[in-house]
Amino acid sequence: TTWVYRFGNGRSDGSKDQKALLGGKGANLSEMSGIGLPVPPGYTITTEACEYVVEHDGTWPDELDDQVRAGIRHVEEAMGRTFGDPENPLLVSVRSGAALSMPGMMDSVLNLGLNDQVVEGIARQTGNERFAYDAYRRLIDMFGDVVVGIDREKFEHAITSMKEERGVENDIDLNANDLRELVDRYKAIYRKETGRMFPDDPWQQLRFAIDAVFGSWTNERAVKYREINSITGLKGTAVNVQAMVYGNMGEDSGTGVCFTRNPATGENKLYGEFLLNAQGEDVVAGIRTPKDIKELDRLMPEIYAELQEHTTRLERHYGNMQDIEFTVQQGELFILQTRDGKRTGPAAIRIAVEMVDEGLTSESDAVRDLVEPGHVEQLLHPRFKNENGYAEKVLGTGLPASPGAAVGRVVFTADDAEEWNQRGESVILVRVETSPEDVGGMDAAEGILTSRGGMTSHAAVVARGWGTPCVAGCDDIVVNAQRKTFTNGEVTVQEGDWISINGSTGEVILGKQPLVDPELSGEFSRFMTWADDLRTLGVRANADTPEDARQALEFGAEGIGLARTEHMFFGDDRIAKMQRMILADSEEERRDALEALLPFQREDFAGLFQAMKGRPVTIRLLDPPLHEFLPHDAEEQEVLAERLEMPVRRVREKIEQHAEMNPMLGHRGCRLGVTHAEITEMQARAILEAAIDVSTDDAPVRPEIMVPLVSTKAEFDHQRSVIDEVAAAVFEERGKEVQYRVGTMIEIPRAALRAGEIAEAADFFSFGTNDLTQMTFGFSRDDAGRFLPYYVQENLLPADPFQTLDQEGVGEMVSIGTNRGRKVKPKLQVGICGEHGGDPASVKFCHDTDLDYVSCSPFRVPIARLAAAQAVT
Ligand code: ADP
Ligand code: MG
Ligand code: MG
Repeated sequence: TTWVYRFGNGRSDGSKDQKALLGGKGANLSEMSGIGLPVPPGYTITTEACEYVVEHDGTWPDELDDQVRAGIRHVEEAMGRTFGDPENPLLVSVRSGAALSMPGMMDSVLNLGLNDQVVEGIARQTGNERFAYDAYRRLIDMFGDVVVGIDREKFEHAITSMKEERGVENDIDLNANDLRELVDRYKAIYRKETGRMFPDDPWQQLRFAIDAVFGSWTNERAVKYREINSITGLKGTAVNVQAMVYGNMGEDSGTGVCFTRNPATGENKLYGEFLLNAQGEDVVAGIRTPKDIKELDRLMPEIYAELQEHTTRLERHYGNMQDIEFTVQQGELFILQTRDGKRTGPAAIRIAVEMVDEGLTSESDAVRDLVEPGHVEQLLHPRFKNENGYAEKVLGTGLPASPGAAVGRVVFTADDAEEWNQRGESVILVRVETSPEDVGGMDAAEGILTSRGGMTSHAAVVARGWGTPCVAGCDDIVVNAQRKTFTNGEVTVQEGDWISINGSTGEVILGKQPLVDPELSGEFSRFMTWADDLRTLGVRANADTPEDARQALEFGAEGIGLARTEHMFFGDDRIAKMQRMILADSEEERRDALEALLPFQREDFAGLFQAMKGRPVTIRLLDPPLHEFLPHDAEEQEVLAERLEMPVRRVREKIEQHAEMNPMLGHRGCRLGVTHAEITEMQARAILEAAIDVSTDDAPVRPEIMVPLVSTKAEFDHQRSVIDEVAAAVFEERGKEVQYRVGTMIEIPRAALRAGEIAEAADFFSFGTNDLTQMTFGFSRDDAGRFLPYYVQENLLPADPFQTLDQEGVGEMVSIGTNRGRKVKPKLQVGICGEHGGDPASVKFCHDTDLDYVSCSPFRVPIARLAAAQAVT
């Protein structure tokens, strides 16, 4: 087996298409090396090796050790140096990298291969003893932290005391002798913490480091990150071993990160930060404040020009905005990493549209690759109502790290954020800086505020990825995590106080600022038309009111897939009539009450039809059990009794009669229409009369009447004949006809199984996947909260099936129902309504199952449109 792929020195065994095997970092290192970019030579150990080692309790596969050594020989030849040879030493980094980038999840070790002899070799070779010992102490620090798990603060403490002893302020001010002594102190810490000596055999260091990267795949925070982001199906992480280049060899050296376009706004301009005389992690760690990349143009114009040449080339090559790491070693530029850059929703749209206009990608590739459903969701996020109205309340301004407005109560730890969120509180997580251990709390927060760190700090990167508003590096405030307060010197904010943050401007605002819904840009609609061109799946909305319907249309819905009618029975003057109907003693009395409800219903339906201007509208007949309309508290029952002029006792008795042991499985859906045909009659009449009223020659209304909760064909036949009779009567009375269709919801497993015979009578199907999930699993929607989170956490289920369609089980019901129905009626219209209609993975499933449309809440319509386009392969 080939476990190792080499790159550099004119060689590239892998390519960018091998991310699953080589990880993103490794695949792109090979790719860059293949197209001739200056990448330090190295090799990648495959994710399959990681998988093997994890599965075999840490044992390496047979050939791996030989291949690792052969890989080092490749690097030695390329660099003309020898690993572990004090005369002419080679140092390497060991870097993790899975198929998907997981910011900060797995750590890298730099400067590997140093020991007491080699460090002298480096000093001689570079003529810089200080540099050599600085590299050495960094190795012990990183190795101690990443490989053997020593608390980094121990090393931090040692260097701080050293600076105090020497009376200096910065690390840079420590000289070679200081650092030599610091190395001894670090080694002592290592020995004390682990009971072992720091390994001075470079090969042993390498082996340990590789094992640590393998091990990090299953560490707690990596597992948690994958869980939160529903990342499954990866083999493991790859390990990259690569020759070191040094950004810390003086003022002609440096290191930085840049994006080919602005990841917050999308502006087409190199964007990034760098530090002179610094190594790798320094930029991200927020120890020194990095300089804007524009400064590099001033300080090293040739390097800047070369960098720009490479970044432009990479963007063109990948057809996507890139996030690039680079290092300059004594005037020589090296590229250390490239990947598709994470970006905000607004940036994603702007980049997609501009890259198409610049001819860098096609419309369909832009739809497929440059915007994620989550980006669209971000655009639909609220903003502050009055962006200029809170000037006096601004506590401070930090970096606009991830745009959007967030309002919440202040908490100071990730655990608190999770806990408060579980209680239903909106929180803003306030920290000096965040680290990978905080991701759970960051996910639970509405917004994130840090007092330290740059645009590429952990908080900023993670927040942008999720679309969570974030203000980073706000040094106007001082955070005291122990006391759970922060202050700007004038105002002190306590835990639980309300603040607002503006991730687009970096402002931190005292109190609760009102939010408004966003407006969508012209670029956004242009992009969405490309998505619409690509998709074949229809997208409708679930809407019950004309207002919802108009919102849905604005978001691009092609019709209403589910209009629930139950809310039409609430409201002051209606509920009384409804209650009278339910409690009536005779059918006649019941009919009287229903007749009084008819005009209201007709008006409601007319409003929906008008709003939808001739587009399809599917109306579901009354679904919930009748007792949901009756009062359960004693006082209200008295009021009702008075209104109905009935003794209270009698009212209570009747309400009692309507009570059910298990209402979800009780007298509801078409079962109501079967026993109380007059309800179906009234609703059918209201729908058809409204359709006739609203129809014009240009825009005829063609209502779709949907019978809920059918399990047998006989039930459907019963309801259909009631509706058809009403239709005939209405058309006769009005002397005018409309085309209407009668279909059913498939939400009971029996109906899915018997879909063939039901399709003989039904004009359309709509899968009600909420009930169908409940009935297929036998999970009560109202009670599953007690155990579902545990199921997901313990991997008994991959996800909450009420959020993401269970494609295997419930999905099989959907495909059985669809196939059996279409066998009888090839053109049978089939859709789904239910929460799943707006979930991208479920949308893909619906596309693959050949449904005609999905229907979801208005706000999710644009997300479903994009997901439907991306489902087309
Ligand atoms: P991450 O995935 O956390 O970004 P990386 O493997 O990219 O981790 O490494 C962390 C830092 O170390 C980066 O800034 C990277 O550029 C730097 N680095 C890694 N390998 C080398 C190397 N061989 N020479 C110089 N710098 C390196
Ligand atoms: Mg890292
Ligand atoms: Mg990196």
